[in-house]
Amino acid sequence: MAIIEKALLEGLTLYLSPYLKKEHGIIFCLTNRYGGCSKGRFESLNVDYYTDDSKTNVEKNRAIILEKLGINNASRIYSAKQVHGNSILNINDYIKLNFDNITGEVDCLITNLKNTPVMVMGADCNLILIADIEKRVVAAVHAGWKGTLKKITTKTVLYMKKEFKSKVDDIIAVFGPSIRKCCYSVDKLILEKFIEMFGYGDFFSVNDNKIFLDLAGINYMQLREAGINEKNISVCGECTYCNNSFYSYRRSKITGRQAAVAVIL
Ligand SMILES: [Zn+2]
Repeated sequence: MAIIEKALLEGLTLYLSPYLKKEHGIIFCLTNRYGGCSKGRFESLNVDYYTDDSKTNVEKNRAIILEKLGINNASRIYSAKQVHGNSILNINDYIKLNFDNITGEVDCLITNLKNTPVMVMGADCNLILIADIEKRVVAAVHAGWKGTLKKITTKTVLYMKKEFKSKVDDIIAVFGPSIRKCCYSVDKLILEKFIEMFGYGDFFSVNDNKIFLDLAGINYMQLREAGINEKNISVCGECTYCNNSFYSYRRSKITGRQAAVAVIL
């Protein structure tokens, strides 16, 4: 059973999880770059305020996502400034939920509140959505190479176990589009950091004197090592660098960000 499926929803091409929505009242949604109102390099569904796109366009694009998903009981999608760290914010603890742009620098937003969408954004980085289907908790994780090295995915699962008493068998995870091992070349110094942290594994390859790193694979490994069942993990498999439908920072430094959104209905 695929947890996520590619879907066309009123002009938006998304990855959605009909299964999670039907069985557990949880929406997982991954966007590509089309269907919004931003122009030029940000064309068109850019969701990140921390770009040079206009704030009005970002607000409109976020509203478009909510509307197309039919989430009428939520007025905004929450996100924060992402800094390639491994900090986690339970937004229930955040008092001022009257703004969508949460103050604070965090790379994982987590909640068990209904109708409170949490989002991470990326242009090559891994966007990972995680849910505890029994305790009804959702987390959105942003993991580029720095966050991956700091084990943000492992840390998120540990946080769910500690703070929400999540059982690993109830945890489901989905990988959104990211730059994949076909295109993600890194220098030797970065590879050495990964080998130091994770040992020698099959998470890198050498081709034509270039080193390619499988960041999605390392985050997948973190989930597996944390005890998440293979059948509970779904990977959309899209490479943001290969596929022009996605924003890619490697392809163009000034660009927008696609979204990974999770909501408890
Ligand atoms: Zn690629």
